[in-house]
Amino acid sequence: MQLHDAHNHLQDEWLAPHLETIALDCARAGITAMVVNGTAEHDWPRVAALAARFPWVHASYGLHPWDVRSRTPGWHETLRSFLLGDEQAGVGEIGIDRWILEDARPGDAPVNPGDAASLQEQLEVFRAQLALAVELDRPVTIHCLRAWGALRDELGGTIRPRRGFLLHAYGGPAEMVPEWVELGAWFSFNTAFLDPRKTRQRAAFRVVPADRLLIESDAPAMPPPGAQCRYPLPAAPEGRPVNHPANVVAAYAGLAELRGMPVERLAAQLADNFARWLSARA
Ligand SMILES: [Zn+2]
Repeated sequence: MQLHDAHNHLQDEWLAPHLETIALDCARAGITAMVVNGTAEHDWPRVAALAARFPWVHASYGLHPWDVRSRTPGWHETLRSFLLGDEQAGVGEIGIDRWILEDARPGDAPVNPGDAASLQEQLEVFRAQLALAVELDRPVTIHCLRAWGALRDELGGTIRPRRGFLLHAYGGPAEMVPEWVELGAWFSFNTAFLDPRKTRQRAAFRVVPADRLLIESDAPAMPPPGAQCRYPLPAAPEGRPVNHPANVVAAYAGLAELRGMPVERLAAQLADNFARWLSARA
């Protein structure tokens, strides 16, 4: 079986000390490709370095909604130059997030909720990046928390990503899946969704069309629960658990079970989806 990780942050400093182990574990687990997402100007060079070093790394560059406030006046030109430097690179992780503004408590996220940009400012930065993806015809990876209506309005508006877009770790309602499909969405099932308490996410992933499914770790974030974490890594500062990209192996097994199909058939479908998502139109 050829496996992939459609969304992670291998450039993250929490993973850096374990990079050699992670590369070896992924190779042994059959993970033949991953999309490594930059989140802010400071980590784009590290994403580029990983893509230059490992043939199985696909780079993606973007300003994450949590990092909007960290941008410099030249951020947009810098982003353009990273994208022009790698014609295979995608745009992401970009998006909008109302959770960080209204629900997050200090310590819930790497950014202090008080330092997060307003939804208006997030939307301005999101639009600018979406427009760049359309202009350069690149795949787009989207983060959305508690802002599904606003996201739908954006993607149904004037800037349409022709190649479709990945809703990473989709946590929106199952009822909205057909609307997203119509707009060109792909959906990635995250390792943390192996937790049976993630009922909303699991319900949605039962109804996502098979040809729009992907699997992701979001490592170092969102580790799978308990014994499903087959590739443990030492905790980060403040005891935060650290996810390993090879944990997608458990997500393949869990998603196959959720959808009542053999894991070999799911993996074959997802290998096809992964290639289409990166190279062709939705
Ligand atoms: Zn992410």
